[in-house]
Amino acid sequence: MSAGRTDVAIIGGGLIGCATAYYLARRGRRVVLLERGFVGGVSSGVNFGNLRLQGRHLEQMPLALRAQALWEGLEAELGESVEFWRQGHLFVALNEQHAAQIEAFHHECRPYGLETELLDRHRIAERWPWLRGPVVSASWSARDATVNSRLVSPAYARAARALGADIREGVEMTAIAREGAGFRLACADGSEVLCDVLLNSAGAWGGAIAEQFGEPTPVFAAGPVQLITEATGRFLENVIHAVDGSIIFRQTQRGNILIAGHPRVPVDFANRRSRVPPRKLATNLARMLELAPHLSHLTLLRSWTGIEGYFPDMIPVIGPSRTTPGLFHAFGFCGHGLQIGPAVGMCLAELILDGRTPTPIECFGIERFAKPVTADRAHLAAEFEGTLLDKIGAS
Ligand SMILES: Cc1cc2nc3c(=O)[nH]c(=O)nc-3n(C[C@H](O)[C@H](O)[C@H](O)COP(=O)(O)OP(=O)(O)OC[C@H]3O[C@@H](n4cnc5c(N)ncnc54)[C@H](O)[C@@H]3O)c2cc1C
Repeated sequence: MSAGRTDVAIIGGGLIGCATAYYLARRGRRVVLLERGFVGGVSSGVNFGNLRLQGRHLEQMPLALRAQALWEGLEAELGESVEFWRQGHLFVALNEQHAAQIEAFHHECRPYGLETELLDRHRIAERWPWLRGPVVSASWSARDATVNSRLVSPAYARAARALGADIREGVEMTAIAREGAGFRLACADGSEVLCDVLLNSAGAWGGAIAEQFGEPTPVFAAGPVQLITEATGRFLENVIHAVDGSIIFRQTQRGNILIAGHPRVPVDFANRRSRVPPRKLATNLARMLELAPHLSHLTLLRSWTGIEGYFPDMIPVIGPSRTTPGLFHAFGFCGHGLQIGPAVGMCLAELILDGRTPTPIECFGIERFAKPVTADRAHLAAEFEGTLLDKIGAS
């Protein structure tokens, strides 16, 4: 099969690949996106939908705030609903250490332009009278929001297609070779793509592509577990999130309760399968009922997880390759990629077309793995099950 030539080829049609394709196409570039399944079929379409600003790594704040502004205008921009809902987000401290954390963040995030409100137990009881458990204090962020993640990547892909991008679903990239100053991609269906610029947005699989270009990373895969109950009468307008991530829940627009909570579980990466171990159902439900015992009568409808890429320092890789001109990486979003996704796509389009982006993203550079990264072991132990910790050497 003869090779089609394009300006930019993108490997992976999750939110990152689809958003980048859209912003490149909007600026008139020829784009081919290769997705081996369906766009948004992996992490990007199965997530909790949380557009959380509170509690972010401070170095992510400029990117996160740029993303939130894009989310706020996204339905108008793409011309379809993604069920964007400015629900607000209550970060709940379950002990004094959490309380100190939210208080510190309240002061630290202000210079970046994020306002949070600190609430003591009495204020919490006034606004959420049904909330039980060892709640010490909380922090409220009115600008935090949610979306229906299943709708987002397809909406970006359709809008990119309308601008001329070639979005190919069911096409797996199987080999990459350097060709002059560009790249030649071979695909499982026998097709080839020639491109000047290549974006590696292959999610948890991005590490293998980077490694091929002499940029090994400590990326590993894990599954954040989600549960959903039957619908019930409206009692909750916002996201409730324990500071340690042990429980996160919200009520969907239909009334179902969507529940998540650390630690994340191992996945079968080789076979691309992820399962929810029954022990997780028990721990997540027990934690939620501690805070919301009035939900104990609800039927659990479904549980699922996904395959997400993580790094031990819990921030993604975003930026140019340090070994290969024309190659860009954006993978391993550590469970936070939905919220920042639109801004990551915008920044990548700027990097590719202008050679720079006004948003500070230097901390995400792949070169940080040239030397061993320091992992916060105690933090990782709360976020990942033990067998995963063994793999990343953070026991
Ligand atoms: C259950 C769950 C809950 C989450 N909750 C939240 C949340 O509430 N808020 C938040 O901000 N983030 C959340 N996240 C994280 C967020 O979903 C991800 O960080 C984000 O979707 C990553 O997008 P991506 O495009 O990098 O990866 P993906 O969506 O995984 O996309 C990568 C794509 O690359 C494709 N691919 C890989 N290799 C090839 C190849 N060789 N050829 C062709 N295609 C290839 C894959 O098929 C895949 O579709 C959650 C994640 C999960 C799994």
